[in-house]
Formats: sequence, structure tokens, C-alpha cells
Amino acid sequence: MIPNEIIRIKRNKGEIPAPDLKQFIWEYSHEKISDKEMTKLLKAIFKNGMTRKEIFALTESMIDSGEKMDFSFLSNYVADKHSTGGVGDKVSIILGPLMAAAGLSIPMISGRSLGHTGGTLDKLETIPGYRTNISLNEFRRNVHDIGISMIGQTEEICPADRKMYALRDVTGTVASIPLICGSIMSKKIAEGIQGLVMDIKIGNGAFMKTLEEGKELAALIQDIGENFNVTSDIVFTSMNQPLGQYAGLWCEIKEAIYCLRNEGSADTMEVSFALGKKLLLQAQIVKDEKEALILQQELIESGYALEKFLDMIKVHGGSLSDIASLHTLHLPTEEIVLTAKQSGFITNMNTLLIGLSHCELGCGRKKLSDTLDPTAGIEFYHKIGEQVFEGEPLMRLFNSNSAKLHKAVNLLKKAVIIDETELKHHLILNGNTIN
Ligand code: URA
Repeated sequence: MIPNEIIRIKRNKGEIPAPDLKQFIWEYSHEKISDKEMTKLLKAIFKNGMTRKEIFALTESMIDSGEKMDFSFLSNYVADKHSTGGVGDKVSIILGPLMAAAGLSIPMISGRSLGHTGGTLDKLETIPGYRTNISLNEFRRNVHDIGISMIGQTEEICPADRKMYALRDVTGTVASIPLICGSIMSKKIAEGIQGLVMDIKIGNGAFMKTLEEGKELAALIQDIGENFNVTSDIVFTSMNQPLGQYAGLWCEIKEAIYCLRNEGSADTMEVSFALGKKLLLQAQIVKDEKEALILQQELIESGYALEKFLDMIKVHGGSLSDIASLHTLHLPTEEIVLTAKQSGFITNMNTLLIGLSHCELGCGRKKLSDTLDPTAGIEFYHKIGEQVFEGEPLMRLFNSNSAKLHKAVNLLKKAVIIDETELKHHLILNGNTIN
């Protein structure tokens, strides 16, 4: 079928036959179909959606456009985790080593900051010497030798997705559930994993604002997983406030280490353990959720999970053997503390604004060429539902650029709502996982 005919089918809400869709994507990734034609197709998909058959064909063609990892030589269960993105979300940095300590193999390919949300890769790169761009051979070897390797996206895996994602970014076609799911799952499946756990964030600081939207995404992720023999579990978690005590770059690595030292904040540990439970059950390392929780707590308390993290840093060329250096590295030169304007209870946090503010500080990019500030971040002193008194510190913003610090502070003027009456909202007060 000629490209125009394929575009016409989608514009008319029809189903593109799988071989034709695969051919279209193959030709696009080999420069035989132009950006202009691909944009027409993407816009038609954005408007009219895709059938399951089309989504499977899209996912398959993106996987086939590059290298597919094969970990079948390992006896361990091979798995990964993905998050739809949040503010203060350092869970991968905790969960990866924790699962490796439990005996799983974790080949984790992470992304950079996206919009107002932070990126695991940007955080890892603040560890002195840590190389995120190792070869796939080295990646494979690390997973074999220590059970975990965390790297950035490579040229070899799903190059068609990389090309299409860049085009979606400039054509306003990113926010399409079939395109998002195809894009995420193609990269995960190409990692050669057996299982996946997906953290779907819901709330005012998430890409998915409602649980209904999240459930649509979840159903599609699980269908794609099933089609490609990857067991996929979903955990819905709240992004109506930042996760944990810090959002930023180096400060999140530090916080992740505190979590691995059994000194983590309750919400961060709750999300990490909820995701970990799913993977441990998939791997059949435990027989029920209770056992999964006990095992994870033991691996943290014994220091074994932290040891795995330090081993990973070492094989990636990083130097963090001296935990004391946590306090002397990447010290910010600037800071401002925001205080409560009135006494009362925190009833709402505009997490999108908080995310935008932390990007403004130097934790995220507006354009690809922007440089990040490893010293930058925000410390949160309170959670939703807590009582505060006028003049009491709410947040501390820090970085090493005064102009950026003031811009970031301005964004936060109305980000925290304090009300005289106490909030009763089960979704927030019952912790961070949503059932
Ligand atoms: N992350 C991805 O990898 N792809 C998308 O389309 C959106 C988020």
C-alpha cells in the first residue's frame, strides 16, 4: 500500500493492516518516508486512536528496528520497572538494587527529565564518574555479574521509536495513549525482560490526571505485555504531592541512599515496596505479599540492597564508596526557605508547579541543550494533611544560580494551599498507593 493510502485509512478511522503499518515504520526509519508523511500519520493516530492489532504491529516494528537483548542465559528472573514520571520520584534508584539483592536480574534503561518531571538518568549522572552510556556488551556483563545495570537509552535499541518520539515532540503528538504505550513497551520488551512493573502516577503532578485515564493506560500496557510474553503488573500511586523529602538531582541520590540505609520517608518506601512486591511475586521468590514485604525489609536492614547499589556504581566507573562524601558533594551556593503564610492544615499542593519550579532551579530542561545543576533541588518539610503554623518553613529551594533560584521561588507562591479546616481525603491520607 502506498503511504497516502495508509494515512487515509487512519484519517477515516479504519484499521491499517499490520504488514502495511510495519512497512510504513520501516520505510520511515530508513529515510524512505519523510517527516511530513509521518506527521500526517501521527496526527491521524493522535485524533482517531489505534486498534490493539495496530498497536501490536507498531510495537513490533519499533522493537525490530534495532537490537533485542537476550538474557535467556541467566537463571535469574529478568525484570524492569517503569514510571510514568513524577516529582521527587527516586524509586528506580531504590527498587533496582533492592530487586537485584533479592536475586532478580535488572537491566534498566532509564530516561532523562521530561516536562516538569525528573529523570533517573540525570540523577545518576550526578554521581562522580558514573557512566550511563556504556556499550550493550558492558551492560549485559554488569547485569550478569552483579544483577543490575542502569543506563540511558542507546542508539541500538528501538531506533525507530527514537526517531518517531523526536518528531512527536515537535508535532504535538506525544500525549496519545497508544503511541505512549507502544513507545514505552517497545523499549522494555527489547531489553529482553520476562517481567515488568509499571508505576502509573495519578494526580495534579502526573501526566495522567485521573484514575480512569491511568486505567486505560494500564489495560493497554498489560495487553501489549501479554502479546509479547512479558508479565506486566501495575501499581497506581499518587502524584498529588511530591514523593519523599526531596525533588532534585544529587539530593535525590542522597535520599535514595538514605532509603537503602533504612532511613527513608514512609511514602517513598511504601511505593518502592508496593512495586517490589509485584516483581518478587512474578519471580516466584516469595509466595505472598506479606513474605514479599518481610524480604524487602530484611534486604534493606541487612545493608545488602545498599551494597548492590554501591557495587553497581563501582562497575559503572563511579566513586561513592565513602558514604561520608554524601554531605560534601554538590553543595549549593544559594538557598531560600519558603514559609507558611497562615496557620492551618495543608490541603493541596500544586505538584505541577513544584515540578516546573524544580526544573527552573536547574533539575530539568526546557530545551535539549540546557545544562543541569547537580546541586539543585527542593526539600519538603510537610505533607498534605499536616498542620502548620504561620511562619513555619514549608520548603527549602537550593541551587547555585541566584537568578534561577528567584524565578523558581516565584513559581511556588501559590503552590501550597493551607486551610483552617482539616482535610479528610482517603486518597491522600491513606498513603501513596491507590487501590
Ligand atoms: N516515555 C516514552 O518512552 N515514550 C512516550 O511516548 C512517552 C513517555
